[in-house]
Amino acid sequence: MQLENQNIAIIGGGESGVGAALLAKKMGAKVFVSDGGQLQDKYRSELQKQGIDFEESSHDIKRFSNAKWVVKSPGIPSSAPIIQKLRELDLNIVSEIEFASKFTDAITVCITGSNGKTTTTMLLYHIFKKAGLNVGVAGNVGKSLARQVAASKKDYFIIELSSFQLDDLAHFKADISILLNITPDHLDRYENDMNLYADSKMRITNNQTQEDWFIYNADDPIINQKVASMNLPMKVASFSIKSPQEIGGYLKSEELIINIKEQLTMSIHDLALKGQHNTQNSLAAGIAARIVEIRKDIVRQSLEDFVNVEHRLEFVAKVNGIEFINDSKATNINSTWFALESMEKPTVWIVGGVDKGNDYNELLALVDEKVKAIICLGENNEKIKEAFASKVETLVEARTAVEAVAYAYRLARKDEAVLLSPACASFDMFENYEDRGNQFKQAVRML
Ligand code: ADP
Repeated sequence: MQLENQNIAIIGGGESGVGAALLAKKMGAKVFVSDGGQLQDKYRSELQKQGIDFEESSHDIKRFSNAKWVVKSPGIPSSAPIIQKLRELDLNIVSEIEFASKFTDAITVCITGSNGKTTTTMLLYHIFKKAGLNVGVAGNVGKSLARQVAASKKDYFIIELSSFQLDDLAHFKADISILLNITPDHLDRYENDMNLYADSKMRITNNQTQEDWFIYNADDPIINQKVASMNLPMKVASFSIKSPQEIGGYLKSEELIINIKEQLTMSIHDLALKGQHNTQNSLAAGIAARIVEIRKDIVRQSLEDFVNVEHRLEFVAKVNGIEFINDSKATNINSTWFALESMEKPTVWIVGGVDKGNDYNELLALVDEKVKAIICLGENNEKIKEAFASKVETLVEARTAVEAVAYAYRLARKDEAVLLSPACASFDMFENYEDRGNQFKQAVRML
């Protein structure tokens, strides 16, 4: 499809918006980028260099009126006033992913879920790379899909999709879709209705046909319920750490088994990613890789030598026999549940931040079993104190990452562990979860 002399307007001048601008320009369009805030220098100069028209700190509605498409960056909510106004003008608004997908015939593998998206996306990218395939990675991670489509022809794209991104898709279709889990997160954006949030996640299957595949977690009750209630036309593979699956993959005592075409088996002790949740991620990625017929030995090797992304159950250092683990990306109860579950030593747990409506009761049993002391690292720790003060011998509050690490070092003994897995967002005390994780790691390294 060419866009010769068509007007394309783009809302948002970050990675996605600038990527879309480059692609639209390449397709021959007249492009205009509008950002309500300030552009980052690198994006401003990129637009200037390409001779692409843009505005900052305002939206000039008149300039949108003759656009064939308005491309919306994922960071801009559909409820934003500018989007409402454009809707009133009856303009054709598409998301960056949808727009980019019109200009590539690459096979797409799309991953969603409440937790594990980035890990599984990067794991799949690693497997595809190792198999020598011409593959790109996009969505929430890496460069924008549009930028990559503009830059070169790819045979495959691995795409991470959040529920907000899914909400923005209309005609887009995944060739292979993966749904990892559905647990409470971002409910505030879904009228506190779990069913609406689950429907949003199920949109990963939208527009799929009999030719396509849907891979899902058979241990997840909400997903099972949704799958049973929908008449899904595509081929289906499931994964489970509890029971055998005919088409898909499962765990049988300590062995991972993937049944797609031929059977692949490997010991869970050889998996690079540890913990039950990561076994689920490895199963999901392994199934997708086998669907595109990547050789079994390559899949096995890749699941063995993958290096996990930062801030996800990341081993930081061992100091005087105390192991420090950074799981700063755990911003909800479910991800922290899996982190605590994977701990094999008595643990000093650092928790807290901005609570998104957590029910800490879900962690009580694990805290009882694994946690010896709690260090709160948030501005308001009342709910945490209420839930756990009677469960552990020691509960203290820290005001900085350095202070939390100092407390932890004092409280933990040799052969024990310190886990930062906050179950909360970070912006009360830190810029973001990366900043929190980096400050933690730096403090550990200074011990
Ligand atoms: P997302 O991209 O969905 O936020 P990440 O891969 O960044 O997911 O991981 C976020 C957090 O969730 C980390 O703390 C990680 O250890 C944990 N996690 C990873 N995979 C899963 C899973 N399948 N189920 C639950 N928690 C997970």
